[in-house]
Amino acid sequence: MRTLPCLLLLAALPLGAWGDKGHRVISGLAVKGLPPEPRTWYAGRERDLAAHASDPDTWRQDRKEGPRHFLDMEPYGGPDHLPRTLEEAQARIGGDYYRRGVLPWIIQDRWRDLVAAFRAGDPAKVVTASAILGHYIADAHVPLHTTENHDGQYTHQRGVHSRWESGLVERHVQEDALTPLPARPDPAFLDRPWDWLKASHALVPQVLEDDRKADRTTAVDKQGPQRTQAYWMIFWSEQGPVVKQQLQLAGQHLGDAILTAWIAAEKPSAPVQAR
Ligand SMILES: [Zn+2]
Repeated sequence: MRTLPCLLLLAALPLGAWGDKGHRVISGLAVKGLPPEPRTWYAGRERDLAAHASDPDTWRQDRKEGPRHFLDMEPYGGPDHLPRTLEEAQARIGGDYYRRGVLPWIIQDRWRDLVAAFRAGDPAKVVTASAILGHYIADAHVPLHTTENHDGQYTHQRGVHSRWESGLVERHVQEDALTPLPARPDPAFLDRPWDWLKASHALVPQVLEDDRKADRTTAVDKQGPQRTQAYWMIFWSEQGPVVKQQLQLAGQHLGDAILTAWIAAEKPSAPVQAR
């Protein structure tokens, strides 16, 4: 990363996505979707992978970290006008660009780390690099990580960020009810983060509408963080399929990333471990 403009506002931005449970689930789905050979790298290490899937959310003391987890689309004029390079981002919106999020470029960087880990032949590094890459890929599948209204603050829905990405997941998602989708090699992998972010962004209006609907139809103290059981049931009945879809897609796209990195590293065999 080159220049770092004023980052003082970052402390106010939410960092977590999916909560710990969501990130763990996504890493598990990804490994299950891998073909046998690259999957061998993770055999017996699935717990390590899951354990590190939320690590980037704990790096908050580094003020550069926050914007790595999102991309605000509005400053660029929406999802069809996103910059493809950091240089373009800076040229388009000036010194503010970093604070508006750098998620797609971080995914590219962390994917290259994974290729290097496969080339180094070190399973511990492969697992760590996969966990970190997986975290950012997962974040790209959270609709509210693509908008400056990231916590509903402009639509009087503060807290919707965590209600969607961890409230629903913690309360309602059952891991074994999710389907691992098969990983696919993707020669254009480095372009994909923009596609995922666009697809996530398209979900934003309905997330906000369903949150409002759940609030309208239930008694709730909207000043406080508490919501009733009825709220959660309504929000889940509307958004549950979307949450599950995004978890499954994030798992598949992490699988695509791993498989493609393994191929880029010329398909190394996992070293036999004395365990
Ligand atoms: Zn995150």
